[in-house]
Amino acid sequence: MTKSQNSFVTEITPQSEDFSRWYLDVVRRAELADYSPVKGCMVIRPYGYAIWEHIQRLLDQRFKATGHVNAYFPLFIPAGLLKREKEHVEGFAPQVAWVTRGGDEELEEPLIIRPTSEVLVGTMYAKWIKSWRDLPILINQWANVVRWEKVTRPFLRTTEFLWQEGHTAHETEQEAEDETLLILRLYKDLAETDLAMPVLDGLKSDSEKFAGASRTYSIEALMGDGRALQAGTSHHLGQNFSKAFEIQFQGRDKTLQHVWTTSWGVSTRLIGGVIMTHGDDSGLILPPHVAPHQVVIVPIPRGNWKETVLPKAEAVRDELAARGVRVTLDASEENSPGWKYAEWEMRGVPLRLEIGPKDIEKAQVFSARRDTREKAAIPFADLGTRVPALLEEIQQALYTRALRFREEHTTEVATYDEFRSVMAGRPGFVVAPWCGRAECEAAIKAETQATLRNIPLNQPRVEGRCIKCGNASPANAWFAKAY
Ligand SMILES: [Zn+2]
Repeated sequence: MTKSQNSFVTEITPQSEDFSRWYLDVVRRAELADYSPVKGCMVIRPYGYAIWEHIQRLLDQRFKATGHVNAYFPLFIPAGLLKREKEHVEGFAPQVAWVTRGGDEELEEPLIIRPTSEVLVGTMYAKWIKSWRDLPILINQWANVVRWEKVTRPFLRTTEFLWQEGHTAHETEQEAEDETLLILRLYKDLAETDLAMPVLDGLKSDSEKFAGASRTYSIEALMGDGRALQAGTSHHLGQNFSKAFEIQFQGRDKTLQHVWTTSWGVSTRLIGGVIMTHGDDSGLILPPHVAPHQVVIVPIPRGNWKETVLPKAEAVRDELAARGVRVTLDASEENSPGWKYAEWEMRGVPLRLEIGPKDIEKAQVFSARRDTREKAAIPFADLGTRVPALLEEIQQALYTRALRFREEHTTEVATYDEFRSVMAGRPGFVVAPWCGRAECEAAIKAETQATLRNIPLNQPRVEGRCIKCGNASPANAWFAKAY
């Protein structure tokens, strides 16, 4: 290892020493995000934003394929609107940013900056919806929101963040429930297929549900330090907002009815999830589906390389690009190949191709996988098929590895003593019977810092006794310490 390679590695704190420090080091060194002059806000740098663009594209395709359309609602909301749904205002008021002046003038009615848009969307839907023929409305928006946070961490929790928020209105309760669950499936599919991040899809407890929702479903992932990350939520809002905002329609039977609404969102938090699911002590490991560069080509500068190696490296780049592979060629002369290897590894590029004079003689390139560090020669003639196949193998391998990690860090317990001893030791998910009462959930949280993540939808039905109170438990709940 050269000196420069060495100095790279030492710039990233090992995960085992301090996972949280490791995370911040990776975010900074890989140039994903930076702090802004306003405390708690982050600047998303081009490399981080490119990951977000892939997430947006992959999710937006899924929304469109299931009949949703995009729109845009304003950033400002009249303060009075927030107050109309009681639970909603209680949940969000402590985090709201206010605008009280415009230019030189004090505003008659202060504005708030949206922490989420239910109240504004509800106001508009009340104008737009008249009849059952206007339903369903399936609108999504890609936007920023502001929640005044006390403790922040890039991507995971910031005062302003980017997300999408879907807002739908339906004729019947069943349709709204179906929509809520459809979106949950899209989120799970995005997380598992594209982010290679296994997630538990399930129902939140009442105390963890969205302020104003009848039911909240979530996807929950397990990070490399054994803490859970809520990676997306889908809310069935019942008629809570339609009654608060008078969103009514004339039904098929001519009676006046309130619509049933849903809302759902995922955010730039997913990028934090990707970092903490896959990364290692050398830095980021990006799943090929969302990697800004899927392949980096590093030419070996020997002899008259600019006449021999470089043209071949360019030809390989062009061939792969023509096949739809996102490929970059690092032909810079100021750094050694070893320095480049370490740099692109740190940035998480899934596959590296090395080309030197000897490889040209053998009509091949040398490949190195970021996930397993396996190296293999690939004949020039096979590149167009082998590289896309290898990227898919890496995508799958990352998912499998993350799933195995989750399985190894999931413990089923039957008693509270067992629960406490697991929580005090090796972190991860703990699966335990729970009676459904908020008192037990609160006591568990107070005593162990573990929160109820969700009650997975697809799990075997287990009749047990609540670990806290001993009453009958209808289903197992999954607990963890969480971000
Ligand atoms: Zn209980």
